[in-house]
Amino acid sequence: MTPTKISLSKPGELSLKWADGSETMIPLKTLRDNCPCASCQGETVLLRTYKPMEQPELPGKYVLKGAQQVGNYALQVYWGDGHQTGIYTWDKLRSLSASALE
Ligand SMILES: [Zn+2]
Repeated sequence: MTPTKISLSKPGELSLKWADGSETMIPLKTLRDNCPCASCQGETVLLRTYKPMEQPELPGKYVLKGAQQVGNYALQVYWGDGHQTGIYTWDKLRSLSASALE
């Protein structure tokens, strides 16, 4: 299922409306802390998991600068600190919903 509308419903929270009428709200902090890219989550290469280096926190880390749909399966998110390698699949976004974490 793909979202029909993606917006910032209120400051600091991303809102996705789905084709079935349901809605997923994701706090931006949760979104960023779960960035799926290799430099945030580490990489598993030849059965060894390489943890990412601890990065200093830059201003704008939790500021959403923009987002762009990738194909029809995911959303690429642009952050205020210049980070933009995170590509969130729709399933991933649904799993980050505030209600799913409660
Ligand atoms: Zn990342």
